[in-house]
Amino acid sequence: MKVAVIGSGVAGLATAIRVAARGDSVTLFEKNGIPGGKISQIRDKGYRFDTGPSLFTLPNLVDELLSMKSNQVDHSANANDNTVNAMSQSVDSNGQSDKANSQAINSDVQTSLSGKNSFKYFRLENSCRYFYPDGTVFDFFQDTQKLREQIENNTDENFENILKRLNQSEFIYNLTSDLFIFNSFHRFSNFLKEENRSIPLHLHKLGFHRTMHSANKSLFKDKRIVQLFDRYATYNGSSPHKAPATLNMISHLEHNIGAFFPEKGIYSIADSLYKKGVELGVNFEFNSLVTEVIVEKFKGTREKKNEIYSGENYNYNSKDENTSNFRKPWRGKRAVGVRVNGVSKYFDYVVCDTDVSYAAENMFNGRYRHPLKKRLSKLEPSSSALIFYWGIKGEFNRLDIHNILFTSNYKEEFEYLFKKRELYSDPTIYIFISKKVVPDDAPDGCENWFVMVNAPYNNGQDWQTLIANARKAIIQKIDITFNIKIEDYIDVEHIASPVTIERNTLSSKGALYGSSSNSMFSAFLRHPNTLNKIKNLSFTGGSTHPGGGIPLCLASAIIAEKEIYKL
Ligand SMILES: Cc1cc2nc3c(=O)[nH]c(=O)nc-3n(C[C@H](O)[C@H](O)[C@H](O)COP(=O)(O)OP(=O)(O)OC[C@H]3O[C@@H](n4cnc5c(N)ncnc54)[C@H](O)[C@@H]3O)c2cc1C
Repeated sequence: MKVAVIGSGVAGLATAIRVAARGDSVTLFEKNGIPGGKISQIRDKGYRFDTGPSLFTLPNLVDELLSMKSNQVDHSANANDNTVNAMSQSVDSNGQSDKANSQAINSDVQTSLSGKNSFKYFRLENSCRYFYPDGTVFDFFQDTQKLREQIENNTDENFENILKRLNQSEFIYNLTSDLFIFNSFHRFSNFLKEENRSIPLHLHKLGFHRTMHSANKSLFKDKRIVQLFDRYATYNGSSPHKAPATLNMISHLEHNIGAFFPEKGIYSIADSLYKKGVELGVNFEFNSLVTEVIVEKFKGTREKKNEIYSGENYNYNSKDENTSNFRKPWRGKRAVGVRVNGVSKYFDYVVCDTDVSYAAENMFNGRYRHPLKKRLSKLEPSSSALIFYWGIKGEFNRLDIHNILFTSNYKEEFEYLFKKRELYSDPTIYIFISKKVVPDDAPDGCENWFVMVNAPYNNGQDWQTLIANARKAIIQKIDITFNIKIEDYIDVEHIASPVTIERNTLSSKGALYGSSSNSMFSAFLRHPNTLNKIKNLSFTGGSTHPGGGIPLCLASAIIAEKEIYKL
């Protein structure tokens, strides 16, 4: 079978690897000159910046891909097994690091080796350092005892409530991940699977009926802890005041399973997957913008429903209708190829790792339109981001690898993001400094700061003015928090905004995660991984089911594989 993958985001790379590992021919078209999509990097004057994701969870999903060999897919492999392959020596039975290393690096570097590729990562000791406007500072350590000390010494929260929340998150994740994350949500048969039958019995515990904030507020008495757990809504570009409490399960990935970091930075994830694809024979065509998914009407036949749309026994010509191999006539539409750089190229199967709204608007403009175009245009996009990449001439010990400087009014900040669609004047600031754990990421005595605030999706706002005002507000807040004049340390500056994110990755309106999860129905409304009306076509990536973020994108590639091969 010949498969085209459009887009080299992490999900496109993963899908290409999965298909190539089965021995099928894959061509991946990418409009940019490098792989990775939102996972990208900038190098300037000795500084290296990961420009997109910074938090790495569920690394076993990357391990699984890097250990694949051609024609050797283990169908029994449970890809949603939470065991992180290489972690056994350094993680105790409670899932906590057994090293008492004070800073971010866990002294045991976790290693995943595959062929010529070597991808190493380690578990962070501290998932994030939190700074509050009232002066409170604490670390959210992954070790339970150390975390208990931080919480009890710095907040009024009962630590048992935090354990309760993390246990609830684990329960929801374990109960729902097979259906909500690792399988198509849109296949009724998945609801009937043995492992998913108990979900209806626990519906009341899943939290669809209330928001993340209301669940957090009713559990925690300290507002600072409510704010901390509310922040997980931003991991998929949503508001905790609107997103269902089910999403509180995100904390399970970060704290129970763990926050990790690749030894060579986040871009090494994309780079390793790209190299793996090359090793498996994926044909990469860079600087290749796909302008159309070619869709044709067809009249064919099928022997068995599950075999018609893919594989060699696909019947392309209606004249074969009477062949004794086939029994039932079938009419419909199917993807047969892509149009790229003005040339039509034909394939048996097409996988889109493009933003689905962009695809629906721009890539189905032949005779047949994308059937969900109208519905997609009505969905609220997720939030975007404004990021300053600063090469900083200086080292700041008060900061760790991941740091959050909270706003004093989180609710209002979300109203600015989703209602007014403006940047808030006192934003929550995220500072990510990979130099803290990757010494080569900045010159000696210097640091590479990735300074991000959540931003509304691009709706044609006056970004120049918004960015200039946000820069002032950010600098002022950093100066006050650390009693410094950070402007004096800025050696190098690059900026990413909703506009540049949209331009560079063709993500509609610069939304980071496709549509937002700002409603209890959002999971159901998210774009499915296949369309009933167009066969031989799958969708993968952060704007489709199950959602954005590296692990969910990798899960969507697992689903795409299941759809292609009817597993
Ligand atoms: C600033 C930022 C911070 C983030 N933080 C985190 C984090 O900490 N942790 C985390 O897990 N996730 C994070 N994410 C989200 C994560 O990066 C994404 O969900 C994930 O990388 C998206 O992968 P994807 O496969 O959907 O494809 P994308 O990364 O969106 O890439 C799609 C690719 O397809 C290409 N393409 C699109 N259309 C076409 C076409 N017509 N023809 C050819 N090529 C095309 C694009 O050029 C692009 O390379 C963050 C994202 C951003 C931007």
